[in-house]
Amino acid sequence: MSRISPGYNSPKRTARELIGLKILLVGAGLSGAVIGRRLAQAGHDITVIDGRDHIGGNCYTERDRETGVMLHVYGPHIFHTDDEEVWDYVNSFSRFLPYKNRVKTTSQGQVFSLPINLHTINQFYKKTMRPDEARAFIAAIGDHSIEDPQTFEEQALKFVGPDLYEAFFKGYTEKQWGCAPSELPASILKRLPVRFNYDDNYFYHRYQGMPEHGYTPMIEAILDHENIAVRLETWFDRNMADAYDHIFWSGPLDGFFDYRLGRLGYRTLDFERFTADGDYQGCAVMNYGDRDVAHTRITEHKHFAPWETHAATVCYREYARACLPDDIPYYPIRLVEEKAILKAYTERAAQTEGITFVGRLGTYRYLDMDVTIREAMDTASTFLETLQTGAPMPAFVQEIL
Ligand code: UDP
Repeated sequence: MSRISPGYNSPKRTARELIGLKILLVGAGLSGAVIGRRLAQAGHDITVIDGRDHIGGNCYTERDRETGVMLHVYGPHIFHTDDEEVWDYVNSFSRFLPYKNRVKTTSQGQVFSLPINLHTINQFYKKTMRPDEARAFIAAIGDHSIEDPQTFEEQALKFVGPDLYEAFFKGYTEKQWGCAPSELPASILKRLPVRFNYDDNYFYHRYQGMPEHGYTPMIEAILDHENIAVRLETWFDRNMADAYDHIFWSGPLDGFFDYRLGRLGYRTLDFERFTADGDYQGCAVMNYGDRDVAHTRITEHKHFAPWETHAATVCYREYARACLPDDIPYYPIRLVEEKAILKAYTERAAQTEGITFVGRLGTYRYLDMDVTIREAMDTASTFLETLQTGAPMPAFVQEIL
């Protein structure tokens, strides 16, 4: 590709030239919107392009024509964070209404509460234990020979023992990731807490909620700035690069390099939509822990907006599978093989001037929305600092290996 001149690094630039730089953001998701906004406010000239016909990336929401239900088109997105600045930021672009994610799971012919909590444990073992009793009970079941769990399976066996692992995690994880939990890192399971009380809130963060009218208007408001131009159904083309002082790339990292060093593996999702009258399952998310049920979960979208009322309902039956070249990438796999490819791409990226890789696809990490926004804010700040100091803008602002 043509190398983009990092002209802004030159100490010869005048203060006047430190505003009005032409910046291209590839991808109109959260990363692109947040970086674009910050740099637009600093006086730069921002173009955001996206190959899709809508903004918002996979956070995109739209009202269903048939039922009026707000749909999370690319699967459920629940906003939760401990980062006060991020919470204030999103609230300045949309009103957030209270929403608590309370997930259920169907396993072995029963419905249980997730994340594993005292209700789950008592129901599963047909007991009436109090917190300390349950803690001691589960501790006795856990595998103490595992000192420092490395894999998903070791983490589960150490902290919840084989029965709960089999019922809730093994089958679900095999379906979700397409491999044995013994091949996956412990970090995936560490996302889920085990609670010895009746708190069934899926997330433990201080702030949690849903934008009143979905994520699309929120992201639209972030992008609504006189220095930002958004061009949809526009794919990046190498010839564009010369017209810009810097590019922020939130598309797939390997895609930028035309997959020349191999393909980074992802899981993709298929959503089977169906409608019904009234209330189909009584909750927003019902997981399916059994291996012989092909789908991982059913999401019922009207329950993500409990303040709305709709006569009919829309559900997505969700299936995970390997991501092929024409599929939408969702979950980065990040096993040994992918990490080797990732390393090769990061080295290549570090040698490419004038571009910074951001977001879930650009940095090949499983990022929650709040982390994506935090990193985007930090990336924009780093960029503005480099303009002042003359230091080069790195290809990655975060540690990604
Ligand atoms: N998981 C599981 N059973 C469940 C829910 C989650 O085994 O009922 C595992 C699964 O491997 C999943 C991981 O825990 O990938 C993280 O779950 P989370 O709910 O955070 O996944 P997400 O909603 O982001 O897909």
